[in-house]
Amino acid sequence: MSMFLTPEQQQIRDAIRAFAEERVKPGAAQRDVTGEFPFELLRELASLGFIGMTVAPDDGGAGADWVSYAIVMEELARADAALALMVGAMSLAITHINLYGTPEQKRRYLPDIIAGRRLCAWAFTEPGAGSDAAALRTRAVRDGDGWLLNGEKTFTTLGSVADVFVVMASTNLAKRRHGISAFLVEKDFPGVTRGKPMHKMGVRASDTSGVVLDNVRVPAYNLLGKEDEGYWNALHALELGRIGIGALAVGIAQAALEVSASYAKQRHTFGKPIAEHQFIQGYLADMATEIDAARLLVRRAAAMQDTGQRTRKESAMAKLFASEVALRAADKAVQIHGGYGYMQEFGVERLYRDAKVCTIGEGTSEVMRLVIAKELLK
Ligand SMILES: Cc1cc2nc3c(=O)[nH]c(=O)nc-3n(C[C@H](O)[C@H](O)[C@H](O)COP(=O)(O)OP(=O)(O)OC[C@H]3O[C@@H](n4cnc5c(N)ncnc54)[C@H](O)[C@@H]3O)c2cc1C
Repeated sequence: MSMFLTPEQQQIRDAIRAFAEERVKPGAAQRDVTGEFPFELLRELASLGFIGMTVAPDDGGAGADWVSYAIVMEELARADAALALMVGAMSLAITHINLYGTPEQKRRYLPDIIAGRRLCAWAFTEPGAGSDAAALRTRAVRDGDGWLLNGEKTFTTLGSVADVFVVMASTNLAKRRHGISAFLVEKDFPGVTRGKPMHKMGVRASDTSGVVLDNVRVPAYNLLGKEDEGYWNALHALELGRIGIGALAVGIAQAALEVSASYAKQRHTFGKPIAEHQFIQGYLADMATEIDAARLLVRRAAAMQDTGQRTRKESAMAKLFASEVALRAADKAVQIHGGYGYMQEFGVERLYRDAKVCTIGEGTSEVMRLVIAKELLK
């Protein structure tokens, strides 16, 4: 793995940074307050080639590498973690389709999603099954030449607005994880009800909702991947998704560091800028060091994927470490800002609230530790 970005990766970083500074950052605080869904920004990201960017050009993507994807996620999150989370969730669904879809399924769904004409979501979690995803109750039973789906999903990112869902359902309850399959479900299939946006602690402009499936008839050709292999295929998609969440966490932490360093130079106590107090210097130094370490872990996992290696352990390490770094960095940012850090106008309390999702979504920190330990002890 090279420690340095290639000229192409630098170009991508410059382009996404410019877009994020100009188009994303200015409205982020307002969207956090109103929860307004940024349709237009998602469309613009798609038109610039940043949605589904790792998909091959023949299937509608930009054919970019995973390191570039990590750079895009970091830069977006540095400006607005809510927008980055939605790009990450779409990427999870896109990756699942890209890895396991038939050529016909890819042709039918990917170009529209990547071009921003349709939104997609990835729905595994249920009210009674999150970390223990194999305990899901959504059932898919054969119905003539198709399937009948019944069940309820929750916490689905883009759940209230998506046009296409990748839905995991049990095709054989007794076989638990060995009896789960994935299906492509369209919002207009009779029996699909998208829930209302849920009210969240952070990433508030990111849409999250439940989805109810009531006798939804899904044609046989919308089975995604082989029957009963949906659980393992979902884990494969998550391996790549976690690189995105790790990068998102690095972006939040980087924003926390930048705003804190700038504030520390301006705010005076005891006759000098707080940046000259050693406690504050120590906080900034720790933040910067941890952020670099987190970024390197994220880029290692991405670079390994780019050379065709599986990264179950490395993706989990990157997500675990980067999420916890983001939380610590956001905490320090609030502390460095003192009382102002607790107020909305400086935006650091938003970073603090947004960072928390990283230790939960796409597998909690506890689950990441279980994944890493399992790989270590094999
Ligand atoms: C904003 C947001 C967006 C999301 N988007 C999506 C999405 O798009 N699609 C989707 O499918 N899901 C999504 N999720 C769901 C997310 O993946 C789950 O919330 C997460 O996997 C945890 O599941 P749970 O909430 O059921 O918690 P639980 O599984 O009930 O866990 C509760 C606590 O117990 C711990 N725990 C559980 N099992 C163990 C164990 N064996 N050992 C030690 N500790 C354990 C957990 O780590 C956690 O601390 C989203 C969640 C959020 C908050």
